Amino acid sequence: MKIGFGWDLHQLVTERALVLGGIKIEAPFGESGHSDGDVLIHAIIDALFGAAGLGDIGTHFPPSEPKWKDSASTTLLSEALEMVHTAGYQLVNLDTTIVLQQPKLSSYIPAIQANLAELLITSPDTISVKAKTKEQVDATGEGRAIEAYAAVLLDTPDPSLWV
Ligand SMILES: [Zn+2]
Repeated sequence: MKIGFGWDLHQLVTERALVLGGIKIEAPFGESGHSDGDVLIHAIIDALFGAAGLGDIGTHFPPSEPKWKDSASTTLLSEALEMVHTAGYQLVNLDTTIVLQQPKLSSYIPAIQANLAELLITSPDTISVKAKTKEQVDATGEGRAIEAYAAVLLDTPDPSLWV
């Protein structure tokens, strides 16, 4: 079994949509940066690549590559999952935390969980999505940024790959 961890942060800006786990969140701001800025999916991709020993999101989807500009992060997640499968691993479970001062995300969590389960070709009970605020502390707590953390466990279904 292999464990992986991912973290990401994006600035919040007015002229972008707020997308988390491929789900659009009602908010007067969104995430800046690479692709559609889906900070949760970026953290998950880094955790998957980390666990499989495949580098990081920047290795495979460099921001300098015009192909990935404003692309849907859900597409990147599906490609990342395929690379993980090709490397001989399958997902056991995923645990995530989103850190955002406002709006409250609790009503969106079931939809995010269901969407991630579909993208990761697994059942929603293997996907955990939690949301916290940063108690008004630092840039994230002041509402200028959003962060996401992800931990994944992978295993190798093929006994010839067991070590
Ligand atoms: Zn990112």
